[in-house]
Formats: sequence, C-alpha cells, structure tokens
Amino acid sequence: MFQAAEQCRKPMTSSNSNDFWVIICQGYSTSDYSLSMASIRGRTLKWAILAILASAVSCSSSPASFTPATRVNPTAVRKRFEGQRAFAHVASQMALGPRVTGTLAIRQLGDQILSLLQATGWATKTQEFAYRDTPVRNVWGTKGSGPIVRIVGAHYDTRRRADQDAEDTTAGVPGANDGASGVAVLLELARVLEPRVGEQVWLVFFDAEDNGELDNWDWIVGSRAFVSAMEIVPASVVVIDMVGDKNQEIFFDRNSDVALSQRLWSIASSLGYEEQFRAQPKYAMEDDHTPFRERGWSAIDIIDFDYPSWHTRQDTLDKISAASLEHVGRVLQTWLEMTVN
Ligand SMILES: [Zn+2]
Repeated sequence: MFQAAEQCRKPMTSSNSNDFWVIICQGYSTSDYSLSMASIRGRTLKWAILAILASAVSCSSSPASFTPATRVNPTAVRKRFEGQRAFAHVASQMALGPRVTGTLAIRQLGDQILSLLQATGWATKTQEFAYRDTPVRNVWGTKGSGPIVRIVGAHYDTRRRADQDAEDTTAGVPGANDGASGVAVLLELARVLEPRVGEQVWLVFFDAEDNGELDNWDWIVGSRAFVSAMEIVPASVVVIDMVGDKNQEIFFDRNSDVALSQRLWSIASSLGYEEQFRAQPKYAMEDDHTPFRERGWSAIDIIDFDYPSWHTRQDTLDKISAASLEHVGRVLQTWLEMTVN
C-alpha cells in the first residue's frame, strides 16, 4: 500500500465503551446463546447458563445499571479466535517463500486458502485475469445467507522487491507482516466464525496489492478488479493489513469510514485492547479498501503502519506475535457475531 504520513492534529472522539456493551446486550438474545448449547458439556455448560442468566438480567434492566461486573465474555460459548492458530498460518505461508503475483508460490498459497476455506464450511469463488501479462487471482469464501453482506479482506501477495531495504533492494519481501498476517487472521476467522442470521460474510484474499511503483505497476490491482465485478453493495468492508507486529499500535486511517472505524475501535476498547487500537487518526492509506471507498461504500483499513521492517528483507516471522493477531481476530469476530451494526 501507499501512505501519506500525517501526524495527528486533532484526536477523534471514541464512543463510550459502556454504550457498546449495552448494544451487545440488546442485540444478542438468549436464544442466540441456546443455538450454541449443543456443543457445550458439563461444567462449561453450567457456567454458560450462569452467563446467560447474567446477560438476561442485564438486558431487562436499564442501560445505566449495566455495570462491568455483569459483562459476559462475548465469545465464551462459541469457538473463539486463537492467536496461536493464526500464528501457525503465518509460519506456513513463510515456508512457501515470497508469494509474488504470478509465481508458483502464490498459486500454491491460493490453492491452500481455498482448501482451508472449504474444509471449514465456506463456499469458495475465484476471479482470474491478466495484468501486464501476469496472471492474477482473487480467492474468497462466503458463509451465511441473506441480503446483508459484510466483507473482511486482506492481500495475500507479497512485494516483488524489498525496495526499502538498506542493503539489497532486489530480493523479494518475505512478507510475514505485510501479507501473511492478514491472511492468517482471515484463515483463523474461517474456523471460528458463524455469521448472524440474515447476513453473509465474505472472506476475500486479494492478489496483486503490493507491487505498486515497481516496473510501473499499480497498487491494489486485485481489489480494483474485485470491486469492478461486484453486483451487490456490501453493508461494510474491513480490510486488514500488517496486523501482526509484536509492537502493535493501530491508528484510525484518515481514508476510512469514520463511523465504522469508531465501531471497531469501540469493540477493541471493550475487549481491553485500548493500547493496541489507538482511537486517533495518523496515516492516510491507499490500500485494498480504497476501491470500495471510491464507490461510496462503508469501508475501513485496519493497518499498523508503524513497522520498521516494511518493504525490507527483515519482514520476517520473528517480528510477529500471536497476541497481536489475536487482538485483531477477536475484534473482528465480536463485530461479526455479536454487535448490532
Ligand atoms: Zn506492502
């Protein structure tokens, strides 16, 4: 992606985290919980029932009485996003070497993504085309049904040359953070995610995002083609990119939808991730959310652009932490399963 650095001059206000929990409470009925009961046994079941009772009591009372002591862990009775599992997906991508558009490595990765999506119950689709005589392939999975479509996307290609490297600008970027981290979060989401009734979730893996300004290539080639071919209007789009840095600080992107940014950052705050999700703007990004924004749609970029190894040969697995991946994954899971949007 391309960025135009701008320091924050005027922090945006974040919404009150208690408001968020009231919204969860109002939007998530006890019948939703009961759907998950079949998979719960023994002591876990007992605690889950207590959680339901606590939730039901809270929902019947006024918002002002909804205190932190009555909060219910939003993913306690469902499959929960696990950072270590996401980290394993980063490692497996790194084993392929750089995943440059048009190479065998990215073809293999695309095939692996499709297999993993299918194995976790997602219907899969692909979009293939040529860009400057190079084959490009977007791959994605869909789950759920209904008129509301929410998209979570990440690019799965890596940059052809490490042009920010101090010593060797000819090698490909390893892409542990810039490429693999976003893909890993989406693949772990594929394992745990259950779309709400009436909603579809699309997990989209964009090709050809990251060769901008090399050999006169454009940025975000895959997502542009994807948006051009879309026949529906998504309710919301969240792109994630470079989300695995051990030193995680994610600011509002100035080119993202403000309301949707506030929604996601509010969820992060409610989960205790205020230190990682900083509710103030910093950079203005051109990334895979840009084509969606240009159509006037609600779309944001969740990106940690303070990453010294960006577009260098040092973008390697040792820079990544499972905890960072987990923060982003749990925010997304909570947003897609629990809240009213
Ligand atoms: Zn990049």
